[in-house]
Amino acid sequence: MRIDDHQDKPGTKARHYSIEGSGKLRCTLCPHYCMLEDGARGRCRVRRNASGVMQADTWGIVSGYHMDPIEKKPLYQFYPGSQILSVGSHGCNFRCPWCQNAAISQCGVDEQMVRKEIMPDEIVDTAAQSDSIGVAYTYNEPTVWFEFMMDVARPVYERGMKNVVVTNGFINPEPLSELLEVSHAFNVDLKSFDDEVYRNSARARLEPLLQTMKAIAAAGKHLEVTFLVVPGVNDDLELFDEMTQWIAAEAGKEAVLHINRYYPSWKMQTPPTPISLMRTMKRMACAHLSHVHLGNVPGAL
Ligand code: SF4
Repeated sequence: MRIDDHQDKPGTKARHYSIEGSGKLRCTLCPHYCMLEDGARGRCRVRRNASGVMQADTWGIVSGYHMDPIEKKPLYQFYPGSQILSVGSHGCNFRCPWCQNAAISQCGVDEQMVRKEIMPDEIVDTAAQSDSIGVAYTYNEPTVWFEFMMDVARPVYERGMKNVVVTNGFINPEPLSELLEVSHAFNVDLKSFDDEVYRNSARARLEPLLQTMKAIAAAGKHLEVTFLVVPGVNDDLELFDEMTQWIAAEAGKEAVLHINRYYPSWKMQTPPTPISLMRTMKRMACAHLSHVHLGNVPGAL
């Protein structure tokens, strides 16, 4: 399917943008606020100015579609032991060089070989007819396919099932408030408590996602946080301690923290995180939080 054919499908018209002068559009979905000339795509590679109309190029296109244990998201304190239908698409508004999912996140939909076309109803019906508790939006950054996620999440919510969002949290307050209305649980990937790390590695900023986490906590939604420890990037113990204190202050001592082990991936070939460092971090985090888990470490919870 050519992308020009895809844009005639229902739902591919994006929302959350403004029309600027000279045929330009400004996307207001995430804090990058990309300004797009006709034909251009945003940093996420999946939202495009098509002759003065913003297109959501990944609407109805998924890269992954599986039943997963909820613990794999990871969510450990939200319906433990249950299964959830997990859906991912393409694109991301971050550029982390250690990305574990670069094959689907660092490309546009027309560059991607792993794809399946699917309508929201089919996803909702599959979740309802299985032993799934609902749908998880995951694998790549789901907020960059906001319209498709919402077209699935609304009927999932209305049919009494659960919506789970696994995200980097880099979304503007207005779309976030729409998402909060129909969502039950979030796992937010917090990469550092240092804005410089966000600027230099992810090509993003820290403050907007702290605001996202505060909004999730204020809305009373279930929140778990994932922190991938990348040696030499975000392993400063003082900052880590500040971060865990901040999570406890904003989301409560019961918020769940997953400290995950990094392995070489995509553009980063630094050796994996030392297990001894992860155990030290877990001990430190347990001083502020009740639920701290080590991830990507066989046999260590
Ligand atoms: S969602 Fe994509 S196009 Fe929109 S501002 Fe963010 S990176 Fe840019």
